[in-house]
Amino acid sequence: MSGFPEGTILGYPRIGRRRELKKAVEAFWAGRSDLAQLEATAAELRAATRERLASLGLGRADSAIPESFSFYDQVLDAAVAVGAIPARFEDLRAADGKIGLPAYFTIARGEGDRAPLEMTKWFDSNYHYLVPEIGPDTSFSLSDDRLVRDVAEGVAAGFVTRPVIVGPVTLLALAKAADGAPDDFDPLSRLDDLLPVYVELLAALKDAGAEWVQLDEPALVSESLPASVAQLADAAARALAVLGGSSDRPSILVAAPYADLGEVFPVLAAAPIEAIAVDLVRGGVPAQVPGLEGKALVGGAIDGHNIWRGDLAAAADKLEALGGLGAASVSASTSTSLLHVPHDVDDETKLDARLVSWLAFADQKVAQVVTLARGLAEGRSAIAAELDAASAALADRLSAPGVRDGAVRDRALTDADFSRASYEEREAAQEALGLPALPLTTIGSFPQTGDIRQARARFTKGEIPVEDYEEFLRREVASVVSLQEDLGLDVLVHGEPERNDMVQYFAENLDGFDVTENGWVQSYGSRATRPSILWGDVSRPAPITVGWSTYAQSLTTAHMKGMLTGPVTILAWSFVRDDQPLAETANQVALALRDEIADLEAAGIAIIQVDEPALRELLPLKKADQPEYLQWSVDSFRLATGGAASGTQVHTHLCYSEFGVVIDAIRALDADVTSIEAARSRMEVVADVAESGFDHGIGPGVYDIHSPRVPSVEEVEALLRRAVDEIPLRQLWVNPDCGLKTRGYDETVASLRNIVEATRRVREDV
Ligand code: GLN
Ligand code: ZN
Repeated sequence: MSGFPEGTILGYPRIGRRRELKKAVEAFWAGRSDLAQLEATAAELRAATRERLASLGLGRADSAIPESFSFYDQVLDAAVAVGAIPARFEDLRAADGKIGLPAYFTIARGEGDRAPLEMTKWFDSNYHYLVPEIGPDTSFSLSDDRLVRDVAEGVAAGFVTRPVIVGPVTLLALAKAADGAPDDFDPLSRLDDLLPVYVELLAALKDAGAEWVQLDEPALVSESLPASVAQLADAAARALAVLGGSSDRPSILVAAPYADLGEVFPVLAAAPIEAIAVDLVRGGVPAQVPGLEGKALVGGAIDGHNIWRGDLAAAADKLEALGGLGAASVSASTSTSLLHVPHDVDDETKLDARLVSWLAFADQKVAQVVTLARGLAEGRSAIAAELDAASAALADRLSAPGVRDGAVRDRALTDADFSRASYEEREAAQEALGLPALPLTTIGSFPQTGDIRQARARFTKGEIPVEDYEEFLRREVASVVSLQEDLGLDVLVHGEPERNDMVQYFAENLDGFDVTENGWVQSYGSRATRPSILWGDVSRPAPITVGWSTYAQSLTTAHMKGMLTGPVTILAWSFVRDDQPLAETANQVALALRDEIADLEAAGIAIIQVDEPALRELLPLKKADQPEYLQWSVDSFRLATGGAASGTQVHTHLCYSEFGVVIDAIRALDADVTSIEAARSRMEVVADVAESGFDHGIGPGVYDIHSPRVPSVEEVEALLRRAVDEIPLRQLWVNPDCGLKTRGYDETVASLRNIVEATRRVREDV
């Protein structure tokens, strides 16, 4: 076996420095390019990544460079590689049983009556993966050799790279039971059937020239999955015995990032594998772990989640501590894949130089890893200059103006600021709103058309004056309002055309933030977001949304819903300062929102939604860490909304369907109405709501906005009837799963029309 390289990263962004992959994939979907063109662009991106990583100092031929490309999602990649696809897509296989790229996209996105795989958050990140569906009859077979071809492509270009694939335990642990599986079916029970396919894949990777393979097994550190850590550890031991025991394979690195390895560490140490990656950012170094003698330890000392240059000397200390465990070698790495950070700080031309000196995006993090690796090889004195420079930048950041703002810090809080009147009192006061049974609303955004994007781009470039841009937006708001009136919705929205993104918009209008030009991060599939950088104390120099909401309200006699993004989501979807507890930062954001809510109320807006789609996302993977998180996150929402009058109806929106997981938090938010995703899981959530006894307003989504599919009237009606059967009528709202901004107008109007008609039919019977 060749030794493990001294420095590596667990994965690299796939979308391209200028989102080339997004553009290529979407052009292919739209029929503007063919498969050959798409494959060629993808090959260019992979080639550029290998060259880039080599130029940053990772070895070309020692497996230091990960082969971590994906056309859509790494979990789907693994599911398709082993043929674990739902029965409804089986006919898409080629004659030889292989699943080609068009079929892969169909599984991801759905088509006609065929629903796509569900999507959900990847551990505690803002990345979304596709949920495999596995049943007792799912047959596993090597069905796609894309990863093998990527390795061979690297070899042909003079590289020996390290293929990365989601491991068998995580693939099964993240899967849901396929339709028709018995109630108590657990996908993990199929582990023994799945392993031979992984064995076969490992052999093919070796054959293609891979000397190392990386199996990503983050499920092993999560305490939020249906399987217990003990079950997962047991599964890992069995899986690695089989994979490690096969004779024809590359050396195996197992990575289980996103949290402390905890009790799984000894299991990995005892397994017949060659290397273990440890997340040293979220996890610690245990005092001792027996059995590491022959193994390489890969220390994830550089934060893969955040964009701060950070404390390089502290990272070097952690790697030294890892050396005390008696492994055969210690290497430097990132804590997670760099999937969660943008490509390159050097692509930013407008950020303040001082801020830039505090930052490290993917490429800068690779350079940091290379520095740490040199320190491991040549001794700490060899990298003293780099360590000192990083420490100086850190010290500069902690003392820079704006990082601490006396006016923000002096606002005193009392317990009363965190509570509203009782729900009963509010419910009574809100009768005055005069809403019908099953009130119809949307989540906020309407389609962001090419016209809107173009107008914004032209305004940003200074090509059109602000008056013209605002006039354009007013026309857009007016048309969205009249569309909703025509459709017959009850609570209207202004459509959010002025917002490029629900967090960035607020970041641009609050002090303490900066936004990037090219800092894109993949969110799911071809979608990317540009997280803002929250570097200083947060305050609101002027009202943000009041002008748009009141303008929209002036156009209609229906209720106009004000639309804000909550503190937790603003934090979760930004890169947040790490020099103070998140709770403190969250309360600063909450106070700015509280002032905004007061201004909206004063301007006559009676319904205000504060979106918190990221509440679940930041939930720590370890149970012991969850109560503290839930306390501060819920408190920040309550601080933001706590000043609202009883007659003001506060809504919140969460973008996922795992209601049961966060029911206590949802209850504690104490919003008057909560909308939640439910269509993809066909209303499974209503059972959880009913069982929990949750008694506030609830809008389980009836339209899956992640897919271009238009749900039929009958389909929506069936979903609504299911909801009406299980949840008291007075609580129920009707709405889509999420905002409509990624959809086109045709499908949006058709879908909303069907929702209105389905609601009309159900209202007749209740
Ligand atoms: N109000 C936002 C919208 O409709 C909510 C988006 C979200 O939940 N991600 O776009
Ligand atoms: Zn949503």
